[in-house]
Amino acid sequence: MKQYIIGIDIGTTSTKAVLYSQRGDVIDYANIGYSLYQDEPDMAEQDVDEIFEAVVDGLTQVIRRSDVPVTEIVGVSFSSAMHSLILLDHEMKPITRSITWADNRATFYSDELKKSGLGQKIYEKTGTPIHPMAPLSKLLWIKNEKPDLFSKIHKVVGIKEYVLYRLFGELKMDYSIASATGLFNIFDLDWDSDVLEFLGLRRDQLPELVSTTYQMIGLNPAYAEVIGLPKEVPFIIGASDGVLSNLGVNAIEEGVLALTIGTSGAIRTVVNHPVTDPKGRLFCYVLTEDMYVLGGPVNNGGIVFRWVRDQLFTPEKETAAQMKIDSYDLLTDMAQKIPAGSDGLIFLPYLGGERAPLWNADARGTYFGLNRNHTRAHMLRSALEGIVFNLYTVLLALEEVSGSPKSIQATGGFARSNLWKQMLADIFERDVIIPESFESSCLGAAVLGLKSLGIVDDLSVVKDMVGTTHKHVPNEENFSAYRQLLPIFIRLSRILNDEYSAITEYQRKYKG
Ligand code: ADP
Repeated sequence: MKQYIIGIDIGTTSTKAVLYSQRGDVIDYANIGYSLYQDEPDMAEQDVDEIFEAVVDGLTQVIRRSDVPVTEIVGVSFSSAMHSLILLDHEMKPITRSITWADNRATFYSDELKKSGLGQKIYEKTGTPIHPMAPLSKLLWIKNEKPDLFSKIHKVVGIKEYVLYRLFGELKMDYSIASATGLFNIFDLDWDSDVLEFLGLRRDQLPELVSTTYQMIGLNPAYAEVIGLPKEVPFIIGASDGVLSNLGVNAIEEGVLALTIGTSGAIRTVVNHPVTDPKGRLFCYVLTEDMYVLGGPVNNGGIVFRWVRDQLFTPEKETAAQMKIDSYDLLTDMAQKIPAGSDGLIFLPYLGGERAPLWNADARGTYFGLNRNHTRAHMLRSALEGIVFNLYTVLLALEEVSGSPKSIQATGGFARSNLWKQMLADIFERDVIIPESFESSCLGAAVLGLKSLGIVDDLSVVKDMVGTTHKHVPNEENFSAYRQLLPIFIRLSRILNDEYSAITEYQRKYKG
């Protein structure tokens, strides 16, 4: 019996390829990084050839390095970052680099769309929040500011479509990636005619849409040779990294919340039909025709902890380096000594503007409640608490739309800290489970691939593949402290939301 499957994730900073056994054991792993181009303010682009080579390399490495006979590999299944945009000309050659989700050059156009009210109407059909990250906004920007480029568009694709086109000569986009473009109607599972008309794009300028379990067979022989895989092995188109991460951490049942705090953060839950938020705060992306992932992405996750470390704890960072210990561990030990609630110091973590729940790029950070007894360690602990408070406010938005989740599956760099995980259980007042699954989007892709190939009947097999888990239960004393501070945090974030533009205007001027 064939035993192995590869899950591959085309991420923002690198492509990861994981060779799994059918039980979910990791047999081999490759991670190939690439550059981000930021030649002008707000630009965040990547080179399409560099990414294509990384995919080929990643596959080649895990296939050629392991002892697994290639005849036992059942397939290769894909995940990819959302919102990337590449324009192709009549010869199917790229006329742009890959413009990533992090590119903010379309801000003016997404702001205008939001203000006009048309943005909310479009969001309610597409499930993609109106934001410069979305291809919808980027296409508006290109149409208005680079009309020559816009007129040359033969096809509009994302990075996964481009890579698979080069490997198979087939141009298809899965429902999941499409649902993050802002052009796709999640209720009809089709391109939205009104949005296309508004943009001035024809349907034939977009890829044909397929289910996330769609298979491509007939790998280009030249690449089959390089990679070392028979050309008959099916490639499964797969889905976006976000929705596959829910699958890969076993958060696909109703009432289970997937929460990530890495550099940024997100909360997501699976519902069985498409839904949108009347207030436009949440995304709704497709996983399969009967699974939709509802959630909110936040900019301010672990990157805020990094800022606190680098700006307020330079001596400790140096000590940790000399002692060859993890500087984050040293700092969380210090934060541990401060009581829950940081003796009434509250931190609003909006250093990098904020997506959910505010969707305000002008948002900025605030310490509130400082008194003379507060120390640097209080500032540290309240920053960690503030990141979780903000995620909690996203949960409140989610609860308005889809009900209250019972438990949380949490992942990301923050999970290296017991203090931070316990804080999450205490602030959310729910059990927090940390699955050990490795590269959750790759595992999600692999499981979706097994389903597509008919090897498993149901995606729920993932529960036997995520490995051992650890559980944190809420501590009553701590959550009673947080329960008193949360309403203040929420009121502050409302009040301050009206003032952010004033201060960012000053900051922009000051920067010259
Ligand atoms: P990415 O999202 O870029 O893949 P990670 O998931 O590794 O990154 O998350 C990185 C973040 O995790 C860091 O910015 C930091 O805030 C946090 N982190 C890393 N190590 C620790 C630790 N030992 N304790 C607490 N937080 C940590």
